[in-house]
Amino acid sequence: MREFQFHRPSTVAEALYLLRQAPSGKLLGGGQSLLPILKLDMAEPSDLVSLANVRELHGIHSDGNQLLIGAFATHSEVAASAEVRSKLPSLARLADGIGDPQVRNRGTLGGSLAHADPAADYPAAVLALAATIKTDRRTLSADQFFTGLFETALDPDEIITAVGFAIPQRAAYAKFASHASRYAVVGVMVAQYASGVRVAVTGASPTAHRWKAAEAALSARFAPEALAGLTVPSHELTSTPEASAEYRAHLVPLMTRRAVAAALAG
Ligand SMILES: Cc1cc2nc3c(=O)[nH]c(=O)nc-3n(C[C@H](O)[C@H](O)[C@H](O)COP(=O)(O)OP(=O)(O)OC[C@H]3O[C@@H](n4cnc5c(N)ncnc54)[C@H](O)[C@@H]3O)c2cc1C
Repeated sequence: MREFQFHRPSTVAEALYLLRQAPSGKLLGGGQSLLPILKLDMAEPSDLVSLANVRELHGIHSDGNQLLIGAFATHSEVAASAEVRSKLPSLARLADGIGDPQVRNRGTLGGSLAHADPAADYPAAVLALAATIKTDRRTLSADQFFTGLFETALDPDEIITAVGFAIPQRAAYAKFASHASRYAVVGVMVAQYASGVRVAVTGASPTAHRWKAAEAALSARFAPEALAGLTVPSHELTSTPEASAEYRAHLVPLMTRRAVAAALAG
């Protein structure tokens, strides 16, 4: 691992300044994805700018029909938050199913979204829960956020500050998890709003995406049976030694049915 300068600013403005001064600076969240990358020499930043002490990035509160979560909220904090558990219990359960206790205690919401791992859980949540991703300079909708494999619409020096989740009538997440890491082989989040149903799939393809055919079927009738006959073409899906594209094509409708059943059960 190459040597780097370590910074611990206390404001977003200071973090931005440090990032822009550095020859090749990188933000550090919980380090659960970035540190393995550094150890493998897959990135060699000159400076690491830790966001741990930036108070503006902490905090969880609801505001009308929106639940606002600071970018530095750890997965454990989201899972344990009384506000999240009462307003959006499906999100608390999703966070509680990420990785293991060490990953949950260090990994953050902002880091997970910025990293955009195709098998991460939060991407399904932000897409299904019509989230807005707030940064130091703008607000992005979840629909415009993920642009490809490990790629997002963020500028290189842009800092996610918070995420606003639209509180649904009901929602649930169903994940077929990797036995080794708990990452999603396929994960599906379903959320019902007065305006219709949103369905988001992670793990199945290079980037999390919405499943529009399922959304139409479930908006007409919110029941697992409404998905009967709906299939996903396997040629569009990821194939890995752990799970073939055909297997993932089987899992997507199955996890969607399970998520709908769980949402109905409350
Ligand atoms: C063993 C293991 C198992 C895991 N299992 C799962 C799982 O089951 N489900 C799952 O979803 N994830 C899983 N993860 C990933 C975990 O959720 C990480 O926490 C997450 O991917 C990255 O968050 P972080 O805060 O650690 O970010 P870091 O690793 O610190 O940073 C990741 C990237 O995000 C950038 N970044 C960080 N914060 C911000 C910000 N606020 N604004 C802009 N850019 C930022 C960094 O510069 C870096 O490029 C697992 C990880 C490990 C090591």
